[in-house]
Amino acid sequence: MEDSYGRTIDYMRISITDRCNLRCRYCMPEDVRWIPMEEILTYEDIAFICRESVRAGVKKYKITGGEPLVRLGCEELIAQIRGIPGVEQVTMTTNGVALKEHLPRLLEAGLCGINISLDTLEPERFRQITGFDYLDRVLGAIEAAISTGLRVKVNTVLQKGVNEDEWHSLMRLAEKYPLDVRFIELMPIGCGQKEAAVPNPWLLEEMRQRYPGLIEDTRVHGNGPAVYYRVPGFLGSIGLISAIHGKFCDRCNRIRLTSTGEVKPCLCYGDSFSLREAARSRDAEAVQRLLRQAVLKKPGTHCFEEPGKITEKHKMTQIGG
Ligand code: SAM
Ligand code: SF4
Repeated sequence: MEDSYGRTIDYMRISITDRCNLRCRYCMPEDVRWIPMEEILTYEDIAFICRESVRAGVKKYKITGGEPLVRLGCEELIAQIRGIPGVEQVTMTTNGVALKEHLPRLLEAGLCGINISLDTLEPERFRQITGFDYLDRVLGAIEAAISTGLRVKVNTVLQKGVNEDEWHSLMRLAEKYPLDVRFIELMPIGCGQKEAAVPNPWLLEEMRQRYPGLIEDTRVHGNGPAVYYRVPGFLGSIGLISAIHGKFCDRCNRIRLTSTGEVKPCLCYGDSFSLREAARSRDAEAVQRLLRQAVLKKPGTHCFEEPGKITEKHKMTQIGG
């Protein structure tokens, strides 16, 4: 699908649940109220939407949440999407807590790559940021995922006064392991509005000072907007996803499907198109029409740098990060 700015939209992020087994301070509030299950799409509804979106030109899918691995049987959905002719790739973003035990079934289902979120290597800090003592589990999951040969990326959000001093040790995961470490600038969405972001230009300068041999890595690493760098001797690359300080809207290739069946043209704005009834009644034409409307509604750029103009009021777990 082409949007009104000439961008090709071939990538869909699907949030399959708003539930999560962590409480990251910038993402999910302690007093979170779950969306009633009857409002959440079934896997059959999601697969139906995927089949229609493939016909409309989507080729790559990311399964996210909330935490996708807390929804029972998500491997079945992955296998279903992988089985749709025209689908090139299905990947997942997870916090890694329950990943290790799911890996065999995820691989069997045809998962093509995995992003594991990790903001600290210090156990006490992990508990402060996420509310739980699961650092060892996540580190174990990273090693287990690498050992299967899956393409692994670690997603890190740095926050001022919380974990920005760990940028170097987190970056060095790419020295020790064949994985990419990506630093995602905190976006002022939901609980993220209360935390202070670390600007990626600052981080890049720190990285350059520490590693004068740092060079830009122009190879394609995925479907996202990260700019990658290589450090001589590192097994993996370092990615910077700079939503605020390196707007990448001109390269935007995505739409988002929330767990309740809303298609969101852009993370920054509250506009959405509900596919739920059309999907539940298996109305292919209506799904096609709504998908096209959502794509045509994609704005030219986001406005994260002007928080007053952000109209999205949902939490990241409800939208799907
Ligand atoms: N639970 C899974 C996980 O943590 O990877 C998937 C969902 S989570 C919402 C997806 C990603 O969004 C995580 O890497 C998380 O760190 C990131 N995230 C959440 N809130 C954010 C915010 N306000 N700004 C930038 N990234 C955010
Ligand atoms: Fe859960 Fe992921 Fe949000 Fe953390 S970032 S609370 S793991 S959905």
